Amino acid sequence: MTSAPAAAPIARRLEGAPFAGEIRDRVAGEVRAHVRVRGHPPGLAVVVCGRSAPSMVYLERILKACAQVGIEGSFVDVPGIGAADQEAKLTQAIHALNDDPRVNGIIVQMPLPDGVQLKTVVDAIDPLKDIDGIHPLNAGLLRLGYEGFIPATAHAALEMIHRSGVELVGANAVVVGRSPVVGMPLAFMLTKEDATVTVCHSKTRDLGAEVRRADVLVVAAGKPGLVTGAMLKPGVVVIDVGINVVDGRIVGDVDFDSAEKVASAITPVPGGVGPLTNALLLSHLMRAAQRQDQAKEHFEA
Ligand code: NAP
Repeated sequence: MTSAPAAAPIARRLEGAPFAGEIRDRVAGEVRAHVRVRGHPPGLAVVVCGRSAPSMVYLERILKACAQVGIEGSFVDVPGIGAADQEAKLTQAIHALNDDPRVNGIIVQMPLPDGVQLKTVVDAIDPLKDIDGIHPLNAGLLRLGYEGFIPATAHAALEMIHRSGVELVGANAVVVGRSPVVGMPLAFMLTKEDATVTVCHSKTRDLGAEVRRADVLVVAAGKPGLVTGAMLKPGVVVIDVGINVVDGRIVGDVDFDSAEKVASAITPVPGGVGPLTNALLLSHLMRAAQRQDQAKEHFEA
């Protein structure tokens, strides 16, 4: 008996690097213009409290990308012993960066040390310098459909959807994950673009049934292999935001090999949403610099 030939992959791979390159080129031009006008580069401060956290690799990549386009990126190390001391020093450092005209954007290393209140730290960031959209003011603006800063990862996932060419108006969009930095902002943005949005989470009763209805699927759960090809509607656009390390390899939340045989387009992990996130953060920084100039002109007028 001969076995049936394996189904060929049909999905187009949505690679992040080419899009990220386009964005970086545009940002580099904006940085040159900024330097011509002000005589100094725009600045990004990355506030870190303990350099051993796994997020350091991600943060170091951001600073490397800053250097490539001429943005002055720096780590601001916050010492401190115990949660209360760390919390006080973090907010103090953020207030100093808020007041520094050469710093246009602030990001804070996550997760915060145990016991440090997220809300206290996030509230301290000037919303005009909150380039990763974590301040409640920016989250509220997004919720109401106004322009503010949106989290770069959610922005990257939406950008990938646009670049897939899928028609969002009236489409069934399913978002797996409801975190404030990925799942929920995406759900709001997709709703604004007239998709019919379903948000799934760890208490969703039948994830397979929800996922199967998706014309556009975004998975941001942090669970390797959570979604397989067998769960997908043929032709779906799959955006895999997950980053997981399994046996020393980086994998997403979607089982790529089975999914690419069913989807029409799919982001690989690594190499999909990640590189785009990084580039979009730089473009948010330039937007922050422009908005700060506008705010200054407004108050000086
Ligand atoms: P998170 O805060 O841990 O949120 C995970 C979400 O997934 C939660 O809403 C959780 O539901 C849901 N979930 C967990 N298990 C589930 C299951 N079995 N079925 C359905 N939903 C489930 O994570 P995050 O910060 O949003 O990040 C998500 C993933 O994206 C992670 O792998 C992270 O590393 C990755 N990430 C990637 C980038 C990038 O640039 N590509 C950036 C940031 C994060 P509950 O709310 O019920 O707990």
